[in-house]
Amino acid sequence: MNVFRRLSSHILKNRPGFVRSSSTNVDAPDFEMENPYEKEKVQCILCKHKIEPDYKNVRLLSQFQSPYTGRIYGRHITGLCKRQQHKVEKEIVKAQFAGLMAYYLKEPVFLQDPELFDVEKPIRPHRF
Ligand SMILES: [Zn+2]
Repeated sequence: MNVFRRLSSHILKNRPGFVRSSSTNVDAPDFEMENPYEKEKVQCILCKHKIEPDYKNVRLLSQFQSPYTGRIYGRHITGLCKRQQHKVEKEIVKAQFAGLMAYYLKEPVFLQDPELFDVEKPIRPHRF
């Protein structure tokens, strides 16, 4: 048994892949390198640019509002993460309560603003 253990450890040490120092062998695997197959982190548009929605930033909040009904777009359209969507909805209600934003329409001055998402093509499609 003892002989077998010594023999197996000898085989393990001398197998082709086993290299003691990587500096001498250029073909030695580099375990310190970062994972080349790592997927890119998916982030919503507000997290990506590190923007915190605020009720005073009416111009930003208006982009999450329908120009026809004033309705706040859902998460399947905006593509925001749960936290940011909740924050946007809360801040829009706060802005409306403070009289900074309209309830049933988008402020006409913000109608020409660039769109952050395509309303006709939701990021997560609806079932109806
Ligand atoms: Zn996010």
